[in-house]
Amino acid sequence: MRIILLGPPGSGKGTQGSLIEKKYGFPKISTGDFLRIEVQEGTLLGKEAEAKMRRGELVNDDIVVGMIKSRIVKPEYKRGYIMDGFPRNIVQAQRLEEIDPDRKEIAIEIFLSDQAVFERLGERRVCPGCERIYNLKDKPPKKEDICDACEEKLILRDDDRAEVIKDRMKVYHEQTEALIDYYTKKNVYFKIEGEGTIETVFEKISALLDREIAGSQEVEITK
Ligand SMILES: [Zn+2]
Repeated sequence: MRIILLGPPGSGKGTQGSLIEKKYGFPKISTGDFLRIEVQEGTLLGKEAEAKMRRGELVNDDIVVGMIKSRIVKPEYKRGYIMDGFPRNIVQAQRLEEIDPDRKEIAIEIFLSDQAVFERLGERRVCPGCERIYNLKDKPPKKEDICDACEEKLILRDDDRAEVIKDRMKVYHEQTEALIDYYTKKNVYFKIEGEGTIETVFEKISALLDREIAGSQEVEITK
């Protein structure tokens, strides 16, 4: 099974990916992390990617796809894997199918309204010392604006400022709507409501995955 995770910033996509990894044993493929490892290890791909980045160019699809391809042949990926942050467009989605054509695929969108994204990210605070993340509403620090662990003053990241969120959401919608359309036509798209706690969202994802893994044809799409 290939699980493609989609979701706006603040949807908890990364956290849900890790929970799926833990429960089902499907490793998460985070292309950004992989790229860093390849560069660190100085592999051929890593060197190519590094040269591009040094010239200020974007790392092209060939490099990223090559990197994914070299991973998924390893035994730990045999049962399945989770894609987080890739594909971002239809061409990339198709390339992924080309390198692993026989894999059952599902795309899960963790849906949050724009309003909910603004609320969640606007309430997020980060500790500049230990990088611990808080939420003023759901996970506040014990002392106002002060990190529980290292007592640094918490900050609102530039990325989480309203005007930046607006831009991030615009990019997200542009990229994701085409993908949703693509996976809907393939009949592998599922929408999971992202409101609620990490646990309740994960319960819904688990229920979906259990059904899909069992191979049930009567899958109820969460609206
Ligand atoms: Zn801290």
